[in-house]
Amino acid sequence: MMSIEKAERLKTLPPYLFKELDRQKEEVRKKGMDIIDLGVGDPDLPTPAHIIEALKRASSDPANHRYPSYTGMENFKSAAAHWYRRRFNVDLDPKREVVTLIGSKEGIAHIPLAFINPEDVALVPSPAYPVYNIGVRFAGGKPYAMNLVKTNDFLPDLNAVPEEIAKKAKLMFINYPNNPTSAVASEDFFRRVVDFAAAFKIIVCHDAAYSEMAFDGYRPMSFLQVKGAKEVGIEFHSLSKTYNMTGWRIGFAVGHAEVINALGQIKSNIDSGAFQAVQIAGIAALEGDQSFIEKMNREYEARRDILVNGLLELGLSVSKPRATFYVWIGIPRNYTSAEFASRLLAKAGVVATPGNGFGEAGEGYIRMALTVNRERMQEAVERLRSIGI
Ligand SMILES: *Cc1c(COP(=O)(O)O)cnc(C)c1O
Repeated sequence: MMSIEKAERLKTLPPYLFKELDRQKEEVRKKGMDIIDLGVGDPDLPTPAHIIEALKRASSDPANHRYPSYTGMENFKSAAAHWYRRRFNVDLDPKREVVTLIGSKEGIAHIPLAFINPEDVALVPSPAYPVYNIGVRFAGGKPYAMNLVKTNDFLPDLNAVPEEIAKKAKLMFINYPNNPTSAVASEDFFRRVVDFAAAFKIIVCHDAAYSEMAFDGYRPMSFLQVKGAKEVGIEFHSLSKTYNMTGWRIGFAVGHAEVINALGQIKSNIDSGAFQAVQIAGIAALEGDQSFIEKMNREYEARRDILVNGLLELGLSVSKPRATFYVWIGIPRNYTSAEFASRLLAKAGVVATPGNGFGEAGEGYIRMALTVNRERMQEAVERLRSIGI
């Protein structure tokens, strides 16, 4: 057998912190224990029927069986621009300021290849969706962690970024409503980001995957609603969480025309675009009846209330999220995140994600997702009570 040597970029990946938890999950499952999995951020509800019907029709059309346009169908990009206009009152040129993505993860992972040279710095939040950090490393860059802490409402403290780092930084990732902390951003924060980025010539990449998942009447804003934002950056959107389409792999990025163009250039050399039938289904999602989103948010809201009220009764440090389907829970001081998650799993069969899996600054927290029905959520709370946390 030939010996196989992996590239440094794989060898130097941060350790996969969920491996031990995966092993324990398997062990608990083998014992026949019923597991309530609050670990995964994947909607449990199905894609709405009118979107599925659109795919069925489009998939039978031979015109859609050929290579799609690399940067997206005109009609899909127009639908994204119209949706932006309706939802955020932001104008976009679909030809120059929109690119179709094979899920937003694809665009997030690829954007550093367009702007990062070896040793270049990118500002990434910690804790965070791991793709920002990894995408920067794969491009040879150096991620600089901006810690998200409770005392700053889980927003990065831009003044804490050393000037020599800010001067070197090419890219900055931010994500609101936020995974994993469920924090939301104010207009004032976005304004400060625009000023900071303009001053240091940093391209802002705002991940807005959860812009539609919000509660109690709260409507998250787009980064591009802030004056000057389109001059400094782009925004990533995903149909995954909004329309329960994680498996379909469809998203888009919008904003600064040259940044969008450069991302498209990378993509045209790596992939060949998203299946047109999926883009047509995406148009049905963006232009069809949106009332289902509100219904779905009510469901998440009800689950959130069951979980958060239960956790507060148990004395855990948690606040009610205004957006996203995550609950970010401060754990008792005598445990690490991993120990606490292991204990919940072994004793109660409840899976939560240790916060340090999202970056060092996530230590001291676990994340639970609102992706099981109310009954199961109630059952999870009962079990946590019975083990006496
Ligand atoms: C789920 C998620 C995404 C969406 O990824 P897709 O590739 O569009 O499915 C992007 N960013 C964050 C922070 C997420 O949690």
